[in-house]
Amino acid sequence: MIRKLICCFLLIALFTNSFAQSVAPAQQKKMDAFITNLMSKMTLDEKIGQLNLEAVGFDVTGPIVSKNVNENIQKGNVGGVFNTYTPDAVRKLQEIAVNHSRLKIPLIFGYDVIHGHKTIFPVPLGLASSWDLDMIQKSAQIAASEASADGLNWVFSPMVDIARDPRWGRIVEGNGEDTWLGSQIAARMVKGYQGDNTYDINHVMACVKHFALYGAAESGRDYNTVDMSERRMYQDYLPPYKAAIDAGAGSIMSSFNEINGVPATANKWLMTDLLRKQWGFKGFVATDYTAIMELIPHGMGKDGYAVGKKAIDAGIDMDMVSDIFLDNLKKLVNDGKVPVSEIDIACRRILEAKYKMGLFTDPYRYCNVQRAATTIMKQDYIDAARDAAEKSIVLLKNSNSVLPLKQGGSIALVGPLADDHRDMIGPWSGAGDWHKSVSVLDGIKQLAGSNVQINYAKGANITDSEWLLKRLGKDELSFDKRSPQEMIDEAVAAAKKSDVIVAVVGEAATMSGEAASRSDIGIFPNQEDLLKALKATGKPLVIVLMNGRPLTLNWENDNADAMLETWFGGTEAGSAIADVLFGAYNPSAKITATFPQNVGQIPLYYAHKNTGRPYAGDFVERYKSRYLDVSNDPLYPFGFGLSYTTFTYSPIKLNTTSIKPGQPLQVSVTVSNTGKYDGTEIVQLYTRQLYGSVTRPVEELKNFKKVFLKAGESQAVNFTITSDDLKFYNIDMKYTYEPGDFKVFVGTNSRDVNSADFKLTN
Ligand code: BGC
Repeated sequence: MIRKLICCFLLIALFTNSFAQSVAPAQQKKMDAFITNLMSKMTLDEKIGQLNLEAVGFDVTGPIVSKNVNENIQKGNVGGVFNTYTPDAVRKLQEIAVNHSRLKIPLIFGYDVIHGHKTIFPVPLGLASSWDLDMIQKSAQIAASEASADGLNWVFSPMVDIARDPRWGRIVEGNGEDTWLGSQIAARMVKGYQGDNTYDINHVMACVKHFALYGAAESGRDYNTVDMSERRMYQDYLPPYKAAIDAGAGSIMSSFNEINGVPATANKWLMTDLLRKQWGFKGFVATDYTAIMELIPHGMGKDGYAVGKKAIDAGIDMDMVSDIFLDNLKKLVNDGKVPVSEIDIACRRILEAKYKMGLFTDPYRYCNVQRAATTIMKQDYIDAARDAAEKSIVLLKNSNSVLPLKQGGSIALVGPLADDHRDMIGPWSGAGDWHKSVSVLDGIKQLAGSNVQINYAKGANITDSEWLLKRLGKDELSFDKRSPQEMIDEAVAAAKKSDVIVAVVGEAATMSGEAASRSDIGIFPNQEDLLKALKATGKPLVIVLMNGRPLTLNWENDNADAMLETWFGGTEAGSAIADVLFGAYNPSAKITATFPQNVGQIPLYYAHKNTGRPYAGDFVERYKSRYLDVSNDPLYPFGFGLSYTTFTYSPIKLNTTSIKPGQPLQVSVTVSNTGKYDGTEIVQLYTRQLYGSVTRPVEELKNFKKVFLKAGESQAVNFTITSDDLKFYNIDMKYTYEPGDFKVFVGTNSRDVNSADFKLTN
């Protein structure tokens, strides 16, 4: 029996062990022998060629450095290619490598598959708002299935950078401000992409980015400096990368930013000491786009020779686009500046990835036209995208139950995004075809059909700012040449003959994402003029927001009757928004990044420290940690989101008020659906360590449960906390717990919670 159990355990270990991280000994031996043999035949040039990643094809985020790509592939100067997809296009390039290069080493093919490949899911910040880990994993799995059917085997995702500054446009690509939730999502995304890490045909290799701390760019300006204490780094910013690696991620992307004076791409502490020695990462590290080249303006060296050395010495394996490895490593080796062993190590890591993906056995594994035709955008995937979009929509306000709308009467559907297809799929929508996305107008028509009279008017452009339009490219914003007043007048006329106004406003997709930081994160003045004119009609005003970051929404919050944050919901956004507007889906999402009242409060996040002069909210208290001109409160706190129904929470019940290390604390509340609709609530659990060897945050998310309750139904929701959940980096930077006094909070968001006290004793 015991032998059987051991056998079973070994088998499970064999299959669940991440191929990327630790391979079963027999497989490892076979792979090592194969690669050793191959490398014994490779020239130094060919080894360096494997470290070269070229951008070929569709879209780019920087200068194209690489020239003569076909010739380079033929010469064995290219290890991988990105931005090329479709089975045919991939096959063409692969054929050059496999038929015409001396050692016939296949290429890997990467792409930015961020929130779906062809079937586009909500942007990651939206997906995170669902708190639905199974659904998020499924979205990555569907993306992997489509991408791999489309010739790709490597995706530049998940992006797991913690971001606490909504000015930063790339906050949209991540999971928000919270370390614990961000780590859960990071691991699930890797699982979705890589499956059980055996690289079967339906999965791809993940590339965790951007390592590291990219989300902490000073003043939210993209690519800007990062300077951070070791404690904050380990405690708040590094865990999601680690979680993705522990889930088996096969590769990592270095970030553009510097960390405490050394850019990530030249940072030996980061890439070798932390990543390899402390964390045991076995996959390979690619840079971000031209990041080695950028070490020159960073001030790390005057030319490719100098910075190429710094990057390879730091532990970078693959150079994305710079061509700096290609042009300098040989000379660096010949000059005795870089040991050939460094090239060997990097080359081996890349060949290992190719081996694990089965490319040496069949370089065309991912080039099956038939499979692409039957897989991409199949109905199940579209349905999953609609489900994901519904689950990502956050109800921010609903006074007098304006929502859900009834399927009757008339609606003024207005706003620059009301009949938009292009923006719905959001930034970084990869190979997604915006022509196939469902606009809000389409969605409402589909759902309400002839029952509702829709009076549509665009009402405003997304922005009238010449400056912005120039920076973004006018046609991207489908600019309407009518005067602002003419457009407003048309919208007001539509509103006057309707029962209710649904105004779809916000940002264009290109206003968040890379290189899209904003210093003012409000609704653009011309859109606000539209909203004010609509409000003046006296008709109920429902605001539907589309945007890629927390916005400042004070006027909107004060004046809208109802407000939905729909992010950029992907291919099926319009259907999902209609489902929510009419109550076919009762919204359940909760924001994972704090919405501030104004930009001056940034960074504003729930897990802040108490300070020595905490502000208790008394208006006249003077020498406290507060502003003169605004309260410390966010507009919407982390974890906030309403429902069409109402939930109440009982006081917290604990099984004991004192636990020892390893003992469970059972935390239980009864949640009741006290409203008229069935609905789902995300019940959140936070803790606070009151006194420690270092100061601790006022709240830290430790768990949550999504519960579905029928109208009138109640349910006990139980959590268990142990000393493991209370670990943190103590005064000696040891990850441990400290006995003492704690609070546990349970509630509907980080602000509205019940609390109870407990102790952890020795
Ligand atoms: C971005 C990465 C992306 C890469 C390749 C860069 O500009 O920072 O997130 O993966 O381009 O497209």
